[in-house]
Amino acid sequence: MTMFSRSKDWRLSNVPWRMEIGRYCNEYRTAVLARRDILGKDRKQSVSQDGIVGTINNLLIEIQDQMLVQATEFRDAHLHRAKTYDELKEIVSDGWALIPHCGTAECEAKIKEETRASARCFPLEENEGWSANGVTCPICGKPAVGLAYFARAY
Ligand SMILES: [Zn+2]
Repeated sequence: MTMFSRSKDWRLSNVPWRMEIGRYCNEYRTAVLARRDILGKDRKQSVSQDGIVGTINNLLIEIQDQMLVQATEFRDAHLHRAKTYDELKEIVSDGWALIPHCGTAECEAKIKEETRASARCFPLEENEGWSANGVTCPICGKPAVGLAYFARAY
């Protein structure tokens, strides 16, 4: 078990909550749970020590649900369609660009060299019902084989 003395250490190690049991907590059979995923007064709650395992389990489920909502909103806010190579360059500076792509290694290599972005996937949902009928890759001009996401690796 790692012991941290500073609040910053706990945040950096992604500990989702902490429990405080003070001098009077045992007398009143209470504890304070402090979430690390939210700020302000709402992050701390006084709870009964009776049934605290179930309380903590529910808290962890709530934190996980909230993290999923935040991650989904972040992802959706950073997904954009690009119609031109210039749009792709701009989008990949801070997000994921969906483009009609030829699927060739040469084209991918050019994109990676010039933008540091690489092909992530041909997403099933976006390609369902998509027709390459006359659509060309905005990078090389060859016929597109599907819609692909491009993004920089972290
Ligand atoms: Zn291409």
